[in-house]
Amino acid sequence: MKILVCVKQVPDTNEVRINKETGTLIRDGVPSILNPDDANALEEALKIKDEHDDVTITVITMGPPQADFMLRECLAMGADDAILLSDRAFGGADTWATSNTIAAGIAKVGDYDIIFAGRQAIDGDTAQVGPQIAEKLDIPQVTYVQDFKIEGKDIIVQRQLEDGYELIKVSTPVLLTAVKELNAPRYMSVDKIVKAYKHDVKVWTIDDLDVNKEEVGLKASPTKVFRSFTPEPRGKGEILEGKADEIANKIIIGLKQKHII
Ligand SMILES: Cc1cc2nc3c(=O)[nH]c(=O)nc-3n(C[C@H](O)[C@H](O)[C@H](O)COP(=O)(O)OP(=O)(O)OC[C@H]3O[C@@H](n4cnc5c(N)ncnc54)[C@H](O)[C@@H]3O)c2cc1C
Repeated sequence: MKILVCVKQVPDTNEVRINKETGTLIRDGVPSILNPDDANALEEALKIKDEHDDVTITVITMGPPQADFMLRECLAMGADDAILLSDRAFGGADTWATSNTIAAGIAKVGDYDIIFAGRQAIDGDTAQVGPQIAEKLDIPQVTYVQDFKIEGKDIIVQRQLEDGYELIKVSTPVLLTAVKELNAPRYMSVDKIVKAYKHDVKVWTIDDLDVNKEEVGLKASPTKVFRSFTPEPRGKGEILEGKADEIANKIIIGLKQKHII
């Protein structure tokens, strides 16, 4: 079985702080990490490899040359191969142009059974790239996968809903997007870290892909970020005093005024 995992290098948004004077984001010193949902996607692929023979896992990313570091982290977790789609022409892409590039990279690999992606990246936060890749490769997709098992030739997944889950049977090839409830990602192992640095990461530029050059990167993106700004800080908290039932009453009135309840 051939498994591809889409992985994205993202700034650790837990580390991003707001400069109180300028109101802008402080990005200096913010580490780049493997997107958390993508770590769950990779872990699920690794679990399949642990339990079945003849499984190969390839991780693929579109990003700048620095994304090589994250790919080696994936190799050190247990992936067999890594592909970096990197070219200035891919820069500034929105989700449509991003998925065009990644789908072209996956099509070049060809011959895959399962494609895993994360549900969402913690920087762009759209959750659009996985489903768009499936559309462009013309294969079925299941998003929000919280449980996965192989039964004979079938794959049975639970798709997370707000108030429960759907049980879905799928056949390959299929694209699945992972949520954090799916598993607990493993750590890198020392021997695999050493191997990861000896591994040859494939770097593919626009000329290596069978992609329409007018359909990738910033210029091809149907959406453009027009303005970005830091949200207003929340107002000060209010301390209510008095008897418990009076306070409860005030809270209910306040919440109703704000249309929260
Ligand atoms: C300079 C710049 C300009 C931008 N301009 C725009 C713009 O004008 N309009 C706009 O809408 N967006 C813009 N973006 C954001 C861009 O659309 C997103 O970074 C990108 O499309 C991925 O979307 P996302 O982060 O929401 O991923 P999601 O859709 O939330 O990611 C879901 C999953 O898809 C996979 N995935 C996502 N991205 C990658 C990747 N690069 N490589 C491999 N797998 C991936 C991962 O498995 C991930 O978990 C810009 C970004 C940059 C850096």
